Amino acid sequence: MRPEILFPLFRAITALAGVGPRISKLLEKLTGPHIVDVLWHLPSSFVDRRFAPKISEAPDHSVVTLDVTVMKHHPTRNRRAPYKVTCFDETGVMDLVFFNARGDYLEKQLPEGATRIVSGTVERFNGVLQMTHPDRMGTEDERAEIQTVDPVYPLTAGITNKLMGKTVRGALEKTEALPEWLDPAYKTKKKWPDWQDALKAAHTPQEESDLYADSPPRERLAYDELLANQLALALVRRTVRRAAGRPIVGDGHLRNKIRAALPFQLTGSQEEALKEIEEDMAQPLRMLRLLQGDVGSGKTVVALLTALTAIEAGMQAVIMAPTEILARQHMETIEPLLQGTGITPTILTGRNKGKKRTAILDQIKSGEAQLAIGTHALFQEDVDFHNLGLAVIDEQHRFGVHQRLALAGKGQHVDVLVMTATPIPRTLMLTAYGDMDVSRLREKPAGRKPVDTRVMALNKLEEVAHSIGRMVQKGARIYWVCPLVEESDKLEIAAAEERFDHLKSLYGDRVGLVHGKMKATDKDTVMAAFVSGEIDILVATTVIEVGVNVPEATVMIVEHAERFGLAQLHQLRGRIGRGMDASTCLLLYGAPLSENGQARLKIMRETEDGFIIAEEDLRLRGAGEVLGTRQSGLPEFKLAQLPAHEELLAAARDDVKLILDKDPELQSERGTALRTLLYLFEEDATVGYLRSG
Ligand code: ADP
Ligand code: MG
Repeated sequence: MRPEILFPLFRAITALAGVGPRISKLLEKLTGPHIVDVLWHLPSSFVDRRFAPKISEAPDHSVVTLDVTVMKHHPTRNRRAPYKVTCFDETGVMDLVFFNARGDYLEKQLPEGATRIVSGTVERFNGVLQMTHPDRMGTEDERAEIQTVDPVYPLTAGITNKLMGKTVRGALEKTEALPEWLDPAYKTKKKWPDWQDALKAAHTPQEESDLYADSPPRERLAYDELLANQLALALVRRTVRRAAGRPIVGDGHLRNKIRAALPFQLTGSQEEALKEIEEDMAQPLRMLRLLQGDVGSGKTVVALLTALTAIEAGMQAVIMAPTEILARQHMETIEPLLQGTGITPTILTGRNKGKKRTAILDQIKSGEAQLAIGTHALFQEDVDFHNLGLAVIDEQHRFGVHQRLALAGKGQHVDVLVMTATPIPRTLMLTAYGDMDVSRLREKPAGRKPVDTRVMALNKLEEVAHSIGRMVQKGARIYWVCPLVEESDKLEIAAAEERFDHLKSLYGDRVGLVHGKMKATDKDTVMAAFVSGEIDILVATTVIEVGVNVPEATVMIVEHAERFGLAQLHQLRGRIGRGMDASTCLLLYGAPLSENGQARLKIMRETEDGFIIAEEDLRLRGAGEVLGTRQSGLPEFKLAQLPAHEELLAAARDDVKLILDKDPELQSERGTALRTLLYLFEEDATVGYLRSG
C-alpha cells in the first residue's frame, strides 16, 4: 500500500486550483494524470525580470521591470489601432501598448496618476520606448511577484506558461518533506539538497547553470529516479533468481543431428552465445540471460538449440513470441529443421479455442508436447506444464520489463532466455534489464559481405541516377529510398512519385514504386516483381524497412539521409549485403549539413555494427529520441537524462547492491524511506517482492 505521506501527490491534477476538465485533458497529455507528474515537469528555460532600469536606460528588445507613473490613456478609435497608455519616470516617457483591449479594464488597472510596476519586453518605436502587452502589471505591494525570475516550461497548445507556472506552484504546495532515502555520505559528497528543496529549486532557476543536467537539484532528482529504477529491477531479479534452478545438461544427441542438418556453419558469435547459455543452464541457479542481435543475426537457431538442450535433459521448452504472426513464423522456420529428430513442435496462440485448445493443453500437461511455440497464451493460468525447463522469450520489445521478468517468475525453476533485435546502448540496457547477463551476436552469418557506404551531396543526384544504369546492366537490383517528410505523408508520397517518374524516364518499365499508402495487395505485387527481377529499381518510402529479403539487391540509395535516424538508416542498409555480390549504399544529403548531421553520417560510413551505431545515436541525440525508444518498451525517464546522467546510473546500481546486502527486505529506517521512493516512482508492484515492513 502506498504510504499516506504520498497520498496528496497521487491525487488527480484536477485537485489543483485552476485545473478544470478542459485544462486537465491537455495537461494530462503533457505531464500525466497526477499531481506528482506535474512536479516532474521541469522548466526548460526562464525569463529574468530582475533588471529594473530607468526608462531612458532600458535596452531595446530586453525584458525589464519598470517603475512608472501613469500619465494618460489614449483609447483606440478603430479596432485595428492599439490602445496606448503613456507613462513616465524621472528620465522619460514610454507607451504601454494593447491590442483588442478593453478600456474599462485598463482604466481600473492603470488609473491616471497612479504609480505602477510593469514588466515585459521593450523596444523603441520612432524613438519612444514601448512595451506591448506587459507580462505583469501591479502595484508597489506586488513587487515581489513581479520583479522575479519566471520559469519557462515546455508547453502544448492550450496551456500557457502562466497557467503551467501556476499549476506547478500549486503542486509544489502539496509537497512535504519526505524521509531521506539517500546515503548520507553520498548526499553530502554531492552537495545535494533534500528532496523537497531540490524540487523547489529545480522549478525556480535563477541562472543558466541551474538548467544544466549537473546542477545539484536536478542531479538529485535524476538520481532518485534512477535509484528507484535500479532498486525495482534488482528486487524483481532477485525474486526470479531466488527460486533455485535445476542443472540442465543435455547429451547432445538432438543438437548434433540439427547441427549436421543445417545448411550453414554457426558463426563464432552464435557458438559463443550457445556456450554461455549452456554453462548457465548447467548451473543449479536459474538462468536469466538476454540474447541481443540485429535482425538477421541468427537468433532463431540459437533459440532452437537451447530448447533442444532442455529437451535432451528430459524437460519441456517453450519459445514465446509477442504476436501471432511471429509465433507462426517461428513455427515455419523450426518445424522443417526438426524433421528426423522425432520432435514435433506444438503451437498455441490466442487463436486456438475450444476443443482444439483443450487438446493442446492436454499435450502440454502430459509432457507429450516437448517443444511449445506460441504467444503469451502459453502463460495463461490454466496452462500446466509437465516439466518445463526453459522459456525463450522473443520479445522484440513489446513486453514491459516487469511483465517480462514476472512471467519468468511464473514457472518453477524455469531457465529464461530473452531475445531482442534492437541493439540497445549499454546505458539503456542497465535501465531496462538491470544487471542481466547478456550474450551478443555481433558477427553476421557467413555470406554477408560488408557494405561499401558512401556519403554524397544531393546535387550529385542526377549523376547517380544515370550511373545506376550501368549497375542495372550488370544485374544489380537497386533500392531508391525517398526522404522522410515530417508531418506530411502526402508530401512524402509526392516526392516518391516524382522520383519514380524521373527514373522511369530513364529506365522505363524496369522501375517500380512502393509507399505506405498503397493497398497491401498492390504493394505485394510490386515487391514480388522486385524479388523475381522483373523490375530492377524499386523506388520506396521507408516501408521497405521491415521484413523484406531480396538477396540480389546490392545497391541502396537514400535521399536526404540526414533526415533519418541512425537506427533507421541501419535498418535500411540491412536490406542489402545479403547475397553473394558486394553491395553499395549511397547516402545523399541536403547541403548544408549540420555538424551533428555530419557526425551521424560519418558513423554510418565507418561501421555496420548496430551496437556502435546505437551508442553513437544515444550520444548524439539523447535517450528520448533514439529512434524506436518510444515504441521499444525501454523505460522513459522524466528526470534523468541519458547519457548526461550515465554516471549516476552506475552509482545507483552500485548503491542498490550495498542497500540489499545490508538490508535485504528494506526494514531499516533508510529501507522504509526507500520503499517510499519506490512508490513515488510508481514501482508499487515491486514492493510486493519484499517481506512486509
Ligand atoms: P534473427 O536474429 O533476426 O531472428 P534469423 O534467426 O531469422 O535471424 O536468421 C536469419 C537468416 O539467417 C535465416 O535465414 C537463418 O537460416 C540464417 N542463418 C542463421 N545463422 C546462420 C549462419 N551461421 N550462417 C548462415 N546463415 C545463417
Ligand atoms: Mg527472429
